[in-house]
Amino acid sequence: MANLTVFPTEERLKTSRRLLIARLKKESSLRAWRALKRLSACSSETDEFCGLLACPVCRARAQKNFADAIESEFSRHAGFLSVTLIPKAGMVPPEDLMKFDLRAFVRSQYRRISKVLPAGHIFVGAVDFSFNMPLPGTLHFSYHVGGLLFGCRGKAWETALRAQYPSVPGVIDRPVRIVHRPSSDLPSMAAYTLKSYHLARSQYLAVPKTSDRNPYRNTRDIAMPRDVDIRLQITHSKYRVCDPLILIGLKRWRTSDPAQFSFGKAGKGHWQR
Ligand SMILES: [Zn+2]
Repeated sequence: MANLTVFPTEERLKTSRRLLIARLKKESSLRAWRALKRLSACSSETDEFCGLLACPVCRARAQKNFADAIESEFSRHAGFLSVTLIPKAGMVPPEDLMKFDLRAFVRSQYRRISKVLPAGHIFVGAVDFSFNMPLPGTLHFSYHVGGLLFGCRGKAWETALRAQYPSVPGVIDRPVRIVHRPSSDLPSMAAYTLKSYHLARSQYLAVPKTSDRNPYRNTRDIAMPRDVDIRLQITHSKYRVCDPLILIGLKRWRTSDPAQFSFGKAGKGHWQR
């Protein structure tokens, strides 16, 4: 896991935004032009931020503000669970990226999780995405859910949650990961939940060179092809940095800046954003 307590410098983020703008200028689609216009107007000098999920500056602002807000809200809890959920519906080949509806995916995952969590549980999560190579030569994006669970009691919900996320042989081996964590892990796990970068890695089953070893999961990092990366950025320019959030049992107060977060306990039932 990367060192999540270190946030990139403002200069580095601005350079990433400049590079993205330069690359969008070479694209001819209307969607790329719209993204270019919004990103070009994003500026910390004028305090006018675009708030787009594609913007490196706004994603980093969102990550930092989200981590700070979660830490101040939940630091009194003795511990929590970190949860990763990988649904088959989130597997998207690069050529289908433009058709993927992130908001619909967020809503469907919210429904899946909220229906198995008993009242009193609080889930603070977000849809995350990684670029995977489950088999050599087969690249796809994996949109999945990462989150933190507070106030857990019993085990029945865990069985029900696992039933919502079945494994897919050879593609999704461990669709549900639940890890108990002490409160000291809260700052780093909160920053990891709404991260400002995406992971690109291969996960295919490697054949061992020596016969006495079993086949093993290769998890080395891979470079994302440039054409796939720009397609991802154009796709994500449709969304705001807060759009991946999934909140259950917690309410986010509305703000004009999508990268600002302030939470309050939800009243009856479950809340989303
Ligand atoms: Zn921005």
